[in-house]
Amino acid sequence: MRFQFYVDAAKKKSGAPDHYCAYYVGIEGVPKNLKNSTKVILTEVSEYKSGTKKGKKRYHQNTAVTVFVTTEEVEAAEREFIEKNKCCPTCLGEKQLWNGWSRTEGNSYRPCTDCK
Ligand SMILES: [Zn+2]
Repeated sequence: MRFQFYVDAAKKKSGAPDHYCAYYVGIEGVPKNLKNSTKVILTEVSEYKSGTKKGKKRYHQNTAVTVFVTTEEVEAAEREFIEKNKCCPTCLGEKQLWNGWSRTEGNSYRPCTDCK
């Protein structure tokens, strides 16, 4: 599941503005009574204008929105993306799939055979 869909699902569920970015996506801090859930923290983001972090993303903690999204909600976000973009559901329109990583070659990809 792509990272983007966790973020999309979290925005939809929380009503956070579209320009918010993910500060955290993971299972740490998910209450035990929430099954199949992932924690997403969204915050407003700007860029550091000066200093050693210039050009890097600055997450505004005071705007943080914490959302718990279920696997179903993330899958729904993926389906919505596929429908909206009319793209291949296997490679999501990228025409290639990740095939692995090695120290010498870096990431390698193979062509998607579902959308030739
Ligand atoms: Zn494809």
